[in-house]
Amino acid sequence: MSKSPTKNQLSQLDRWLRAGGFKRGKHPQGALKRSRDARDARQAVATEELRTVGKRPKKTPKGIYVLRPPKWRRSWLVSGFSTRTGGVSTIFGGKDLNLGLVDADSKAAVEKNRRAFLRVVKAGKSHLVSMKQVHSGIVHVLNAPTNESLTGDGAITNVPGLLLSVKVADCVPVLVVDMRKKAVGAFHAGWRGTVKRIVENGVGRMRVEYDSAPRDLHAAIGPCIGQCCYAVGDEVIGEFRSQFAYADKLFREVFDDDPLKKKYPLLFMTQRAPGHGPVAAQTHLDLVEANRRQLIAAGVAEKNIWISGLCTSCNPDLLFSHRKESGFTGRMMGVIGVRSGASRHVGPRKD
Ligand SMILES: [Zn+2]
Repeated sequence: MSKSPTKNQLSQLDRWLRAGGFKRGKHPQGALKRSRDARDARQAVATEELRTVGKRPKKTPKGIYVLRPPKWRRSWLVSGFSTRTGGVSTIFGGKDLNLGLVDADSKAAVEKNRRAFLRVVKAGKSHLVSMKQVHSGIVHVLNAPTNESLTGDGAITNVPGLLLSVKVADCVPVLVVDMRKKAVGAFHAGWRGTVKRIVENGVGRMRVEYDSAPRDLHAAIGPCIGQCCYAVGDEVIGEFRSQFAYADKLFREVFDDDPLKKKYPLLFMTQRAPGHGPVAAQTHLDLVEANRRQLIAAGVAEKNIWISGLCTSCNPDLLFSHRKESGFTGRMMGVIGVRSGASRHVGPRKD
């Protein structure tokens, strides 16, 4: 009988050691530490994916999922668009992250959701500024910390520790940041606010207040109802035509909105009696394009505009949609602010 182990026995031993995070002949403490480091690294990657990927996840996330432009990762900047997963509200049929004080949901649940969301975006000690939104063109300029309740649909600030927010469930949330001057803006643009040019005027106001140079301005358009799903009536069409020379670029005629018919048009072709035209056209509005044009008109470079591209109505498992859910739904939030404790911009410099 041989005293030294066979090759087979050794490889068996190596497998056991590897499973336990050890390596034969190495100090066990070092091996343990390496295995802990590897585990921590794996977890860090998982958390990072959960927080900052700016596109639809392959599977509906279980936890809180936040959308954010990849270039917006700065130590002094707090920002993000919430989605609906990972909260404690149950009234809308899931475990939802409802961040709006709507009648159907309990205040306690909303407050718990807000705290969780603020933790994920690492808001720290920032004070959440929430507006009573009224589909207006009103933009508040916040020069000092405030606790008063604000009515309006836009806010801009360069005060560290103020976290601006807009609440949406189809309307367009637009966040803007001056990367050099460390100033931020948040805007709520439904069709009425868009007609009132809230984004164009709001960014214009930022340029005046903070002397923002166009090249330093970056904007993000969060999830909202897409042109795919946003049929509008004559009133809306008329308002846009009266306000924007480019209005016709924002509309698209959709002749048949039935997804089944879109997918299998041949099945339905023979159903129409000869001589009959297509069913009545619907006019769909592209609110993202409308607000993208306003950002450009206000001086934001096209390449600095990030668009989530997610339609609220097309992604009911991930996003709240007022229209899709017939008004019975929660609210998502877009937030932006200069982290409390961050140095305020004092003069020209690079960072
Ligand atoms: Zn859609």
